[in-house]
Amino acid sequence: MNTPIFDMHCDLLSYLSNVAGANAFNKDDIGCAIPWLVDGGVRTQVTAIYTDVNEGSMKLAGTQADIFVDLLEQNSRELAPFDSVFLKNWEKEPKLALLASIENAAGLGNESAEWNAITDQLESILSRVDRLAYISLTHHTENRFGGGNYTKGIGLKKDGQKLLDYLSGRKIPIDLSHTSDLLAEGILTHLDKENLDVPVIASHSNFRAIWDHPRNLTDEFAKEVIHRKGILGVNFLRAFLDTENPGRLFDHILHGFEIGADEQVCFGADFFYTKNFGDPSRVPFYFPLAENASKYQSILTTLSQNLNPDQLDRLAYKNALNFYRNLWS
Ligand SMILES: [Zn+2]
Repeated sequence: MNTPIFDMHCDLLSYLSNVAGANAFNKDDIGCAIPWLVDGGVRTQVTAIYTDVNEGSMKLAGTQADIFVDLLEQNSRELAPFDSVFLKNWEKEPKLALLASIENAAGLGNESAEWNAITDQLESILSRVDRLAYISLTHHTENRFGGGNYTKGIGLKKDGQKLLDYLSGRKIPIDLSHTSDLLAEGILTHLDKENLDVPVIASHSNFRAIWDHPRNLTDEFAKEVIHRKGILGVNFLRAFLDTENPGRLFDHILHGFEIGADEQVCFGADFFYTKNFGDPSRVPFYFPLAENASKYQSILTTLSQNLNPDQLDRLAYKNALNFYRNLWS
């Protein structure tokens, strides 16, 4: 029998909004196509509203929020909203729930937007998707809120502080997965200094102690997430695991348990549409053992050599589920 899976990150919505002829059921196009998710026993998938930093980012984020709503409405036989009933009965729910998030606050505010337009955009998206699993301020690059994971030395900006202030008490976690180190530090410092009520997670990041890459977390930041009772989603992308050694996926997961993240480690696989990606060094994007969402169960089987049944359940779904139950119940 499949262990149910709760996965913290995929880019199904940006695939559906950006690729001509895209279809959520097309297994050839994307590793988180609905049939792959169902095969893998996924019962909750976080689907990110992802945009680059550009003038059209707010419009595109709105389009992805509409796609999220339509996807649930048009496929109600397989899919369910992640509402309070689903959250309460999670272990018994037969359907796959989708939960939206925002990857890059450029989707809330482009570089020229007035502040009111930014908060209006957040409320408008929330009214459509109901709940947000998290917001990350940045992606790879810099924006008005702060520095992305490839912008070393750029930290939290005034608008980033303002957005954190606005989020306090709203039960929307802030995501460290695409921050520069200085931005991560700035976020944590600002939350503490202003005594803000904003949970901190890393939705789809691995460990720099295992593979030294700016997209991966230092143990220092991972321990901050542990300390603040957030969650840490392990990413399946070859570039962030170890470009040569597929087995390092297991080392990242085990490292999480080794540093005391027993109640934090979860999956954040990060499947996206790779066919139009510019950088040939990234191909193949995934190792065969983690190439699509049908692979969670075999990954758990391999890990059963090193983890006990309770740890396997925590990784598969319990840590993420407990986190959102504590936050939203
Ligand atoms: Zn990402």
